[in-house]
Amino acid sequence: MDNQKIRVDFPMLIKHPDFIYFDNAATTQKPKSVIDALTNYYENDNFNVHRSVYSAAERTTQIFEACREKVIQFINAKENKSIIFTAGTTQSINQVANGYYKYNLKKDDEIVVSIAEHHSNLLPWQNIAKQNGSKLKYIDINEDGTLNLESAKKVINTKTKLLAITAVSNVLGTINNLKALINIAHQKNVDVLIDAAQAAPEIKIDIQELKPEWMAFSGHKMLAPTGIGILYGRKDLLEKMHPTQLGGEMIEHVDKNNFKTKDIPYRLEAGTPNIEGVIGLSTAIDYLQSLGMNNIEKYCKALGQYLYDQLTKIDGVTVYGPEKRQTGIVSFSIDNIHPHDAATYLDFNNIAVRAGQHCAEPLTNKLGVNATLRASMYFYNNKDECDKLIHKIIEMRSFFN
Ligand code: PLP
Repeated sequence: MDNQKIRVDFPMLIKHPDFIYFDNAATTQKPKSVIDALTNYYENDNFNVHRSVYSAAERTTQIFEACREKVIQFINAKENKSIIFTAGTTQSINQVANGYYKYNLKKDDEIVVSIAEHHSNLLPWQNIAKQNGSKLKYIDINEDGTLNLESAKKVINTKTKLLAITAVSNVLGTINNLKALINIAHQKNVDVLIDAAQAAPEIKIDIQELKPEWMAFSGHKMLAPTGIGILYGRKDLLEKMHPTQLGGEMIEHVDKNNFKTKDIPYRLEAGTPNIEGVIGLSTAIDYLQSLGMNNIEKYCKALGQYLYDQLTKIDGVTVYGPEKRQTGIVSFSIDNIHPHDAATYLDFNNIAVRAGQHCAEPLTNKLGVNATLRASMYFYNNKDECDKLIHKIIEMRSFFN
């Protein structure tokens, strides 16, 4: 991958050449093709979908449904009714919790998560566990931050009904062994939900190979606009899911007292969808596929390793997670400098990193820290930028000490 050529595709990077953006796990920048697709939509195709018979609106409906096909192909899902458009990972997971497990979990049933979950894949399960009298159990991590598969084998048992697990930790940058985890779960008839918010942008996920029951991810973390997300669900489970939103475009017919819903996916997509978001997501997928997901994964992993290797050479810097890096996400702390002060210092120097608990408080507690710094890099970042960050961290150490 030619990094300099790629950077030209991202207007933000071109317009702000001295700005180093290392907060891609929060949201990614958008390529010109995605921005152009949104402009084109508003200039030529801005008609509501699934309702009008005039040809312009029908054309937009066709474009919209072709985007669903694109997502299906991106994750290699078989069922074309298995893709539900949502606002993002958070909404997707909440929909599974409140539309399905709320009705399918009994007292003393168990839900298993890991200690490294983002709050979006934790709070909905805490809530459902409380409401239904079910229990929430945790898979632990190893000393180096990788998921402990032995712990998974112990925690998942015959009472477990759901394993809800992230594919990539948004703090440690580790990739969980989904194949092994799904195997452990399925042997005990346990459903699996994959939180792919950090995985979908960086690694190829193959639904037909992994066969999870559910998967959720967000467009904005993979070059698409905000407010668009995906819920993949196994068709038979989606058919049993209760809509969490009721309204227009999801019904077959309505009388004064009752309504009959349409088939999936439409019965789970009430109201006008985020049409521009869907078109933006489809264009983002085109862009990712033009680079190749395997190339993206390789590049981000190598860059993560480079930053890790440079950071660990600095006295007083602790990097969290394993020595062998798996993605472009690197969390660290600097002795005697609060992460928020460090992030502010870096901000004064035009470098954007995240400081805090990264919406994963049980994990930061487990790591024994209040907060960390996080540099999360994507394929448009490069070693030069890492070197500049390293230089500023060394400078900061002498400034504060
Ligand atoms: N899960 C993980 C692992 C994440 O990193 C994030 C966002 O950072 C989310 C879920 C929530 O994503 P969103 O805010 O797009 O709904």
